[in-house]
Amino acid sequence: MPEVKEVLKRVKNAEMKKGYITEIFSSFQGEGPYAGRRQIFIRFAGCPLSCFYCDTPYARDPTPGFWTAHKKKPCTKRNPVSTNELMEYVKELHTPDLHSISYTGGEPLFSASFVKEIATEAKSMQLKNFIETNGYSAKDFASVADCFDFASIDIKLRNHRAVEEKDYDKLYSNAVECIRIAVDRGIGTIVKVVAIKNTSVEEIEEICRDLADLNIKFVLQPVTAPPDLQSADIVPGIKELFALSETAGLFLQHVMVIPQVHKFMRIP
Ligand code: SF4
Repeated sequence: MPEVKEVLKRVKNAEMKKGYITEIFSSFQGEGPYAGRRQIFIRFAGCPLSCFYCDTPYARDPTPGFWTAHKKKPCTKRNPVSTNELMEYVKELHTPDLHSISYTGGEPLFSASFVKEIATEAKSMQLKNFIETNGYSAKDFASVADCFDFASIDIKLRNHRAVEEKDYDKLYSNAVECIRIAVDRGIGTIVKVVAIKNTSVEEIEEICRDLADLNIKFVLQPVTAPPDLQSADIVPGIKELFALSETAGLFLQHVMVIPQVHKFMRIP
């Protein structure tokens, strides 16, 4: 006769969710004020946006057939993956310098209930959770927020072409609402805006006015040019960055300009 504990474990496993991811790996955070902190990254599949500079287009497919666990030897597995299986990899990838688990994408809110289950399990293992989101759904963000210690929330600019012009105001208001929820719930909140050439001071001013009363870290991240575009055509120059940073500084206390450092390090 199996022991009660064993039976309960089996029942719990049978009830656990499955979802679609593209990969899980250990690396250093490459963006924002936590750059250089060791994390286990779970890259979720699917994203409803279409930013022109997207550096993970492969992660926008919501139902990829396979996912990869990057250990000493990469190992490819069939999707969907269960929470239980994923947590086994989290344990294997755990290192003494671990800061947190990064829920990234694609867009993790695209798999909100799956993310919530994994984050709850991670919390029960005394791990910290860090979500990186484009903030497209305040409703989904609210449903997972209590599991998170850190949230890095993007505000997309109109010329990022993340959505059609008619849908931009809805995307913007959802992102601002996500930021308010994160701050209200005591989450360490980072707001990231990717700055491209000719990003207007007026647009940054409008955003910073909307966030002025909130305790956030505000990151202007100069875009990394995708392979098919010339850096000189889209990366903002130092004078532009000074102007944008100074504008943000009129409204917010913690303003920083930080590029994607993992690109310099040539790591994922
Ligand atoms: S939100 Fe992120 S994953 Fe989605 S298209 Fe934009 S850069 Fe790519």
